Amino acid sequence: MSFDFSRFGCKVFNDAVMCEKLSKNTYKSLRRSIDLGLPLEPEVADVVATAMKDWAVELGATHFTHWFQPMTSFTAGKHDSFISPQKDGKVILEFSGKELIVGEPDASSFPNGGLRNTFEARGYTSWDCTSPAFVRDNTLYIPTAFYSYTGEALDTKTPLLRSMEALNRQALRVLRAFGNKTATHVTPTVGAEQEYFLIDREKYEQRLDLKLCGRTLLGAKPPKGQEMEDHYCGRIRLRVASFMKQLDEALWELGVTSKTEHNEAAPAQHELAPVFESVNVACDHNQLTMEVMREVAKKNGLACLLHEKPFDGVNGSGKHNNWSLSTNDGQNLLDPGKTPYENLQFLVFLSAVIIGVDKYADLLRMSAANTGNDFRLGGHEAPPTIISIFLGEQLTHVLENIADGANPDQTPSCVLETGVATLPKLPKDDSDRNRTSPFAFTGNKFEFRMVGSSASISIANYVLNTIVADSLMEIANRLENCVDFDGEIQKIVREAVKTHGKVIFNGNNYTDDWVVEAEKRGLPNLSNTVDAIGAMVEPKNIALMERHHVMNEAECLSRYEIMLENYCKVISIEGHTMAQMCRREILPHMVEFAGKMAESYEKLAKMQVYNANIEEFVRELSTLITEVDDLCCELDIELDQCDQIADYVENARFHRDSIRRVMAELRTAVDRAERLVSSDAWPIPTYTDLLYRV
Ligand code: ADP
Ligand code: MG
Repeated sequence: MSFDFSRFGCKVFNDAVMCEKLSKNTYKSLRRSIDLGLPLEPEVADVVATAMKDWAVELGATHFTHWFQPMTSFTAGKHDSFISPQKDGKVILEFSGKELIVGEPDASSFPNGGLRNTFEARGYTSWDCTSPAFVRDNTLYIPTAFYSYTGEALDTKTPLLRSMEALNRQALRVLRAFGNKTATHVTPTVGAEQEYFLIDREKYEQRLDLKLCGRTLLGAKPPKGQEMEDHYCGRIRLRVASFMKQLDEALWELGVTSKTEHNEAAPAQHELAPVFESVNVACDHNQLTMEVMREVAKKNGLACLLHEKPFDGVNGSGKHNNWSLSTNDGQNLLDPGKTPYENLQFLVFLSAVIIGVDKYADLLRMSAANTGNDFRLGGHEAPPTIISIFLGEQLTHVLENIADGANPDQTPSCVLETGVATLPKLPKDDSDRNRTSPFAFTGNKFEFRMVGSSASISIANYVLNTIVADSLMEIANRLENCVDFDGEIQKIVREAVKTHGKVIFNGNNYTDDWVVEAEKRGLPNLSNTVDAIGAMVEPKNIALMERHHVMNEAECLSRYEIMLENYCKVISIEGHTMAQMCRREILPHMVEFAGKMAESYEKLAKMQVYNANIEEFVRELSTLITEVDDLCCELDIELDQCDQIADYVENARFHRDSIRRVMAELRTAVDRAERLVSSDAWPIPTYTDLLYRV
């Protein structure tokens, strides 16, 4: 049966519902709060809360939750029912404005990086009315920001909202300088393409590593990987098609604009792309998408893996974060447009992005760092760990010509005079799309391709918003005070090209030559998470965050600490899981199988048949048994040792350099054994079982 599209957003307290359920005045007050970011008066809040509750109850809700995004990449919230006991032993359902606006979950159990002392354990959640509430599983979900008693952000949403304000402020100044009087708001827009794997649930349940870590810690390469290139956009199998249909429908009811679904490069890998929307809503919707994916998969006897590298030897998963700027008067500021005037404004915004990305490349790299992504970035399946911008030859050429004073030989129509200028029509879409660049201009938006598939997209977006806000601020300072407007614009473009053009690279980012070239250009290459997250506490980056009121120094430091701590925890859990699997599952089976082979040898020997190959085989397996056991012991020792390292950075380096090294050696040994042991004797599902069962 096909989906009834009148049900799109039927579980969302959206504008249409507000209009219908609220009086004209209440609606107007709420709309004003949403559009202008003003606080809602208490009486209005009470009315809105009651209307929201009545609407939610009609949809089967019995509870409400302040839904927030602590710094864990998951979402959280405690569920309260609407009931209020009465004297006569009955209950009525109540929901006050206060309950809608502020919540008070205990902050002590969420990562806070020293921001929350025990004597001020309280955390607060506060309604983000710019992202609509919705009903899911009998609960009214209210998107909220989460912060400490002292007002410091404990989540990923708060800095994102602050960065949106910063960007709006600076972008409007630039628009005003261009004489635009109609735009009153500039909003970053985002469409996040989400990659994921789908595998059979029964097989998933049989693997401790998948259940606890989301990725396979062991597993020999299957005879067939992705070399045939037969999966990408190939026919979608029935079971997967049914999953995608249910996923789309569940998302549509929740107002998520799921648009494109297809098979990705690796076997069992797929992708979902939504239609873009305001960055704040896009972030909430991406979190929701990940949750619904897992849920729908489970219902269908499948497991959805969102880890960046669930399987060694085939592509991992990421998120392509498509980002642009849109005004409330309908302009996409990164669309070259049709007229020269639009061109000029576009070139200024484009320059702002180039300047920001070059100045804060380390921060942008940091925003995509996590333990999983370390296996993917630079692996010829995802961008390298060097930030660069792809503009396409044509656009780069236009910028260079302007920077050089518009050499008339090369761009004959390029005269820099606002209004009368006839700049060449800028390329709408570069035919030769570069798929290897971490940050590519794709016609009317930038696509940041580094973000990991399991991560919240908030971090990448608050960094992007802030670095662009910063260059727009400097540009606005110049344009507001200049005498020669066109001349100043030329200077800005020249600066973007001459001083910051080193970040522009239109070639193949997957080659070794680029790594060498990037080093020559002086571009940072932060190859792993531990090195990349240092950017969070670089004085220039803290100053940037403080300048735009996105985060203060304490907030930056706490995030840094949380990221380091998280890095260690993830690797520790993986290490312990691996050791346990090897000891309790792999080794006993290896020993048993070696014994069986030895018995066979003896039986043959009794018949005077001496097979040297069998003897050699038993010896080889026996050597591997020793190797696996020794490496398990070594891993145990290292895992104990790291508990003694007090310094966060030193501990993270130890996990990166020592624990991961032993884990890699252990994996090699086990994977060799997997190829020797009979398939009945191998205790866990193999890569072939996992990748080709759905
Ligand atoms: P692909 O990158 O796979 O070729 P598309 O070009 O169709 O895919 O678009 C990818 C994503 O970019 C979609 O989620 C789309 O909604 C989003 N997108 C398109 N325009 C914008 C924009 N102005 N701002 C942000 N995202 C956008
Ligand atoms: Mg894309």
